[in-house]
This record gives sequence, C-alpha cells and structure tokens, in this order.
Amino acid sequence: MVSSVTSKIETEQIVTSSTQVDDEDHERFTHIVLEGYTPKDGEFVALDNSVVGAMINATPVMALCGKVWVPGRDPQKYPICPTCKEIAESMGWSLPSN
Ligand SMILES: [Zn+2]
Repeated sequence: MVSSVTSKIETEQIVTSSTQVDDEDHERFTHIVLEGYTPKDGEFVALDNSVVGAMINATPVMALCGKVWVPGRDPQKYPICPTCKEIAESMGWSLPSN
C-alpha cells in the first residue's frame, strides 16, 4: 500500500536506516527504509517492511531507492544512500539522525 504514505502533510513517516553491506566497497551505503507512518489523528500504522523483522526472519526489505536486500545484524556507519536521501527529502520526511 505505497499509495497510503503519499500524504506528507498529515502523516509522520517512520524511517529506519539500514546498511547494505556487500563485498564491493562502492555498494556500502546506509539505505533508508520506510517502516510505517502515523496519521495526524490516528495510531501508528506499520508497513510490512520492518528492518528488525527482516533481520530476524532473513526476509528482504525495500529501501526508498528501490534497493532490496536482507539487512545484516550489525549495521555499520556508512554514508546515507544519495538516492534514498533525495527521495526522503523530496517527500518532506525527517531522516534518521546519522
Ligand atoms: Zn538507497
């Protein structure tokens, strides 16, 4: 239900960053995953895209940029993926502090 998160004014998006770690150095970015949102007058709505759940179940998540991967258990500090950052900022979302 991607369409339900397009209202940037009345919802507060919950985003989590998670690091994609591949053997290739240039693949090392922290991607942003939208995990859910809180409507202005409602309760938190979780999307089926939880990084923690993905770690536990070894199921892939999809980042804002479209990157799909299984999050590792020990994320490290990498620069935020430029594409993810651009999308998040264009949607008016607050980024995870990093
Ligand atoms: Zn990304």
